[in-house]
Amino acid sequence: MRDKYVLKICSSGSYQVGKTSLIRRYAEGTFTSNYMPTIGVDITSKLITVNNQQVKLILHDTAGQEVFGRLRRFYYEGSVGCLVIYDITRRDTFDSVKHWVADYRSVRGEDKPVVIIGNKIDLEEQRTISTKEGQALADSIGIPFYECSAKLGGELISQIYTDLITNNFDLFK
Ligand code: GDP
Ligand code: MG
Repeated sequence: MRDKYVLKICSSGSYQVGKTSLIRRYAEGTFTSNYMPTIGVDITSKLITVNNQQVKLILHDTAGQEVFGRLRRFYYEGSVGCLVIYDITRRDTFDSVKHWVADYRSVRGEDKPVVIIGNKIDLEEQRTISTKEGQALADSIGIPFYECSAKLGGELISQIYTDLITNNFDLFK
């Protein structure tokens, strides 16, 4: 098998929802509770096999801060899809989801795959956004919805990335 395909996938969403943590969990299998804001852009790569084809994923970690507004276009360029993440304990991050979906699509086009992820489900007692509400928002936009925990990890996180590839590229079906 050769490293034949290179796909860039972005992450977006408000500040501190767990964008960096999800990428680290997926790419390195680690989690840290020390908060370290992402400055600018961080790029990680991960080699995976989808349907017997080797794919190199380039995972771009975008900064949530509006202050990086003009640079976001640059992070999105060339990407095949985007994970829009919110924190199930913080309503403001959920309210911003539509904005982040529109922001990505304004740069990459309406047909580019975007998925919505409610993160931090390990904090169930602090939950303010129900699964039903998250699902309803995704349904209203017509895109997939997941809930996960970057802290707990689990198979679902890898599944989000493989689903995005298999659901959108005939080549990997
Ligand atoms: P980003 O600003 O979106 O990149 O968010 P970070 O990945 O830096 O995470 C922000 C904070 O939330 C950090 O303190 C993380 O340790 C914490 N965090 C991220 N994901 C989870 C999770 O699934 N569960 C819990 N309990 N904390 C998380
Ligand atoms: Mg970050």
